[in-house]
Amino acid sequence: MPDLPLYREIRRIHLGSNEILPGTSTKASYSVGNLPSGTRVAIQMEIFRSTEPGPHILIIGGVHGDEVNGVEIVRRTLESNLYKDMLSGTAIVVPLLNVYGFINYSRDVPDGKDVNRSFPGTLAGSLASRVARIITKNVLPQIDIIIDCHAGGQGRYNYPQVRITKGDEESYGMALAFNPPFIIHNPALNGSLRKAARLAQKMCLTYEGGEALRLDGYSIARGLAGIQRTMHHLGMISESPPEMGTPVEIEHASWVRSSHAGLFIWSKSSGALIRKGEPLGTISDPYGARKVVVLAPREGYIIGHTNAPVVSQGDALFHIGY
Ligand SMILES: [Zn+2]
Repeated sequence: MPDLPLYREIRRIHLGSNEILPGTSTKASYSVGNLPSGTRVAIQMEIFRSTEPGPHILIIGGVHGDEVNGVEIVRRTLESNLYKDMLSGTAIVVPLLNVYGFINYSRDVPDGKDVNRSFPGTLAGSLASRVARIITKNVLPQIDIIIDCHAGGQGRYNYPQVRITKGDEESYGMALAFNPPFIIHNPALNGSLRKAARLAQKMCLTYEGGEALRLDGYSIARGLAGIQRTMHHLGMISESPPEMGTPVEIEHASWVRSSHAGLFIWSKSSGALIRKGEPLGTISDPYGARKVVVLAPREGYIIGHTNAPVVSQGDALFHIGY
């Protein structure tokens, strides 16, 4: 566990209308507003405190409402009683931030805005901005580290990976403890939770696994194990699964795009190490007349790929990291 002075004292936690005392656990909910039908929409969280001082961690899913792997990972941490009998510190657990997107099978809120481009958010802003603000105002000041669980877009599979902000050494240490297949060093996008965390000098791991609207067992298992390893590294829990190899570190990534339109069938998929010139898949016209082989432009790892069966010219096919 990193021996920071901050972790050696009991800090106060206020959520909802209450102070949450060491050695207790409770739930809190924040109202975002009403659906047009009048139904109240609230963001729910659970808070677990050890009697011992230690790190304060936020485990969050569903910032994008259709990225169900993230929601399922966080749900499983609760179901498996991960936070029961914690050795130290505090866990704030938010399984589903974007309730609107979740019930509409959408990444965004109903006005089309992206919560993860709306941080830090404001009460006078759009719905996405109001949702973001609940975390920025109430939770962010009280925590030290975030694990934010995502998936790829619809039809776009991401091999399990942790993204951290380039140059953020503290988060890098946590990413190593998480032990994902890939660690991606990239800049945090403006308006993202990771950017808000960086500005507030908090550590943040953005976990990505699988694709939107499709539960993926491997991505869920790697995410859950990563959370356990990170919390074990922080001295918050007594056990965690063994490491599964050394993460491959990615400094740059680019997309291989479709040169033709047609039916797309991949022969290489995410996780694979590929050599320059190697066939990755084919694009065929529907009439059996033409077939184009997609070749790897350089050596690297496939960190994401499309599962779209039909593609247009310029569509993103493979995300190659190197
Ligand atoms: Zn996402």
